Amino acid sequence: MAYRGRFAPSPTGPLHFGSLVTALASCLAARSRQGEWLIRIDDLDQTRCRPGLDRTILHTLERFGFEWDGEIAYQSASSEHYRQALDRLVQQGNVYFCQCSRKTVASQATQMGSEGPIYPGTCRALGLNDAPGRAARLRVPDRTITFEDATFGPQAQNLAPELGDFVVRRADGYFAYQLAVVVDDSLAGITDIVRGADLLASTPRQIYLQELLALPRPDYRHIPLVLGTDGKKLSKRDAAHPVDEKAPLEGLMAAWRFLGQPLPETPLSLSEFWQWAPSVWQPENLSQQITNDDK
Ligand code: GLU
Repeated sequence: MAYRGRFAPSPTGPLHFGSLVTALASCLAARSRQGEWLIRIDDLDQTRCRPGLDRTILHTLERFGFEWDGEIAYQSASSEHYRQALDRLVQQGNVYFCQCSRKTVASQATQMGSEGPIYPGTCRALGLNDAPGRAARLRVPDRTITFEDATFGPQAQNLAPELGDFVVRRADGYFAYQLAVVVDDSLAGITDIVRGADLLASTPRQIYLQELLALPRPDYRHIPLVLGTDGKKLSKRDAAHPVDEKAPLEGLMAAWRFLGQPLPETPLSLSEFWQWAPSVWQPENLSQQITNDDK
């Protein structure tokens, strides 16, 4: 199957160095395999998106010399597809509706998972109808989901004890990222997902949803996170670090170095960089970088 990758920024802040690194890695992964590279704007949660930022991000990518294939996809235009996927999960009996507030969950939970309190199952057997203010939760199995990440190696997670039944449509009506991303990637025919390592822990949930919805599983490569000087992840909302559009080549070379890639023998122009980079792209350097960091 022909390679098809994507970059999926959320328009919650201007492009920062961490997203530039992810954009570059996903683009080169595709171009080095003569594949396509698509862009999707993850503007599902309108409460977090800032109007006009999609244009700003696309403009910045253009200034850096990125070229993408096809039309830009917007999650906000895909609700009907998410609804159909949710209906299917409901019909299968894998989703139930839940009226617990975050506070109730926190006060009733007896176990902490990797992302907060594990849902104690309060509404699991109540058979509640769908109604405004109710979330849709996915029942998770007590079994380990495994996958091979191209950078981080073999991964395993048992969703029940580590995470619990998770929300696929929030009480405020917004579909959850986990469901949307699975539907979107399959609609776009994405074969390979290259994205930040902050989403490594989300992948088993997405793989489980792909199984339930009978969707193909793409290959995954997660990119080590660029951390701020305080050791914390650089947030896209941290507008203090947008990339400098006036120095695109410097930004790209910094991202290239971060990705552990071999330096060019002579200085390159922006267009020369884009011609050269896909042919020398060595994704295996990323895993070596992690091993070095661990030492
Ligand atoms: N929109 C997500 C983000 O900006 C990325 C989603 C994905 O690559 O799956 O962090």
